[in-house]
Amino acid sequence: MSDCCKPTNHSESVLCPSCNHKGKRIQLITLKSLLLPNALVKLDVRTTYYFCSTPSCNVVYFNEDGLIFQQHDLKVPVFQKDENLDTPVCYCFDWTRRKLNEAFDTDNDNKVINSISTHMKENRCGCEVNNPQGSCCLGNVKAYVKSLRAENVE
Ligand SMILES: [Zn+2]
Repeated sequence: MSDCCKPTNHSESVLCPSCNHKGKRIQLITLKSLLLPNALVKLDVRTTYYFCSTPSCNVVYFNEDGLIFQQHDLKVPVFQKDENLDTPVCYCFDWTRRKLNEAFDTDNDNKVINSISTHMKENRCGCEVNNPQGSCCLGNVKAYVKSLRAENVE
C-alpha cells in the first residue's frame, strides 16, 4: 500500500509523546521556516506535525511516528516554553515580553494591541513562517497584557 492510500485520520487532537497533552496540527511550512538545518534534515514531509504548547514540555513539534523536534531544534525561542523577557510574544512585529511590559508601564498597551490588529487586517502577518505556533499571536498578546493588568491590581 502506498502512502497515498493510507487512511487519513489526522484528527486535530494527537497527543504529545512527552507530556501527553493534545497537540495542535501545524503546517509543514512552519517547520521548514523555523527548524535549524541539522533538524530540518530529519523532517519527514509525508507526515503530519503537531505543536505542543505545554510550557513545561521541551517538545515543540511531533508527528504520529514519534519524531520530535525540541526547542534547541528551532531558530527562535518558543513563547509558550521560554519565560525570557526578550522572547517574542508577537513574532511578526517583534513584541517581546520586555517591550510589552514597557508599553504597559507607559499606558500604551491598547495602542500595541490595536496596531497588531491593524497589521492583521492589512494582511501583513506571517505567523505561519515566523511564529512557532504557526498561527496568530494576538491571543497570546492579549492574554499577556491581561496578566500584566491583573498583577497591577493586586
Ligand atoms: Zn508536550
